[in-house]
Amino acid sequence: MSQIYFDHSATTPLDPRVLDAMRPYYEAHFGNPSSLHWAGQKAKQAIVEGRRQVANLLHASLDEIIFTASGTEADNMALMGVALQYQPQDCHIITTAFEHPAILETCKYLERLGYSISYLPISSDGIVIVDALRQLLQPNTRLVSVMAANNVVGTLQPIQELAQITKQHGALFHTDAVQAAGKIPLYADAIPYDLLSMSAHKLHGPKGIGALYVRRGVSLVPLMHGGGQEHGLRSATENVAGIVGFGVAAAIASAEMSAEASRLVGLRDRIVAEVKERIPDAYLIGHPFKRLPGHICLGFDGQEGEAMHLMLALNEEGIAISTGSACSSHNAGQPSYILMSMGMDPIRARGSLRITLGRFNTDLEADTFLQVLPRLTEKLRHITSRSFAPVA
Ligand code: PLP
Repeated sequence: MSQIYFDHSATTPLDPRVLDAMRPYYEAHFGNPSSLHWAGQKAKQAIVEGRRQVANLLHASLDEIIFTASGTEADNMALMGVALQYQPQDCHIITTAFEHPAILETCKYLERLGYSISYLPISSDGIVIVDALRQLLQPNTRLVSVMAANNVVGTLQPIQELAQITKQHGALFHTDAVQAAGKIPLYADAIPYDLLSMSAHKLHGPKGIGALYVRRGVSLVPLMHGGGQEHGLRSATENVAGIVGFGVAAAIASAEMSAEASRLVGLRDRIVAEVKERIPDAYLIGHPFKRLPGHICLGFDGQEGEAMHLMLALNEEGIAISTGSACSSHNAGQPSYILMSMGMDPIRARGSLRITLGRFNTDLEADTFLQVLPRLTEKLRHITSRSFAPVA
């Protein structure tokens, strides 16, 4: 049975070009970049190059990139790094109700410490309502954090306008770009964000390496204390091979972004159109085109309780998709807080499928998916209707 991977928002396969570049840094080039001898200097050069490549993806400067171990850590560093500069009563933060737990749980922690947090509302098509920001801003608002693209619905957020309003108010703007980086342009010379989080494993790079862009002049309180690496913001011996891999993944994404985005939009829109044609109860969740190039989120009227069964049945056929974000597999069967934040009723919010395409997906794989999905929804419909039939 052939295997089809349609879950790129959870993680992406490593690009072979990335693996080739990383391998020597697990073997011959094992030095500690802080060492002054040849082995250390080889590793240090590799970090400079990786930093240059990641900075280039954002049109940023080298000194604005801080490497972390993950997107989660970059998000924590941004929120905590700003908040801890202030007394809790002097720091209000604005975010949205449909952020990733890396943001939401950090906000909950800050609330427990006495900081105040407000949440921007989301429209029914999965986009933050910009006008609401003006109403929520307060004299002590220090930070606004809004994701660049949502991880479940795939919708792109108006970060340009949100960042501008935030800057006019004199606060800092952070965007969690873990899903968007490498897929859409996010240039620091075009969008006035101050902080931006990324994670290499979402753009065909390795796991265990992320980065926080910190605009020149923005100061943060470090969360990690030690040897002073990463401009004193993130002490720890650097993950050299990870940084090399992240750099090459970023360079490939920069070079191939526009051609790859057009290809994925074509594949995405074909799948959506044909699913709707072949499965009359299927509908697309979220804005039809303000979405990530390869991201599809589907609902099925009348089969909301079946999303998990459908995902497992697809898995039996070798097709990997998800019912929500990877993180929400822990609370399977619960309505998605992301869909609820868009005003969806709890029944509908229980039953979505997330199909996310990536670099190595082909038209042929889309054809197979389009044959298998209608067959499985039909089969599950029969089982569901039989289980509800009155007992004789
Ligand atoms: N932010 C968003 C929007 C995500 O989708 C994810 C992961 O799914 C993260 C943050 C966390 O990134 P990482 O897995 O690198 O910790």
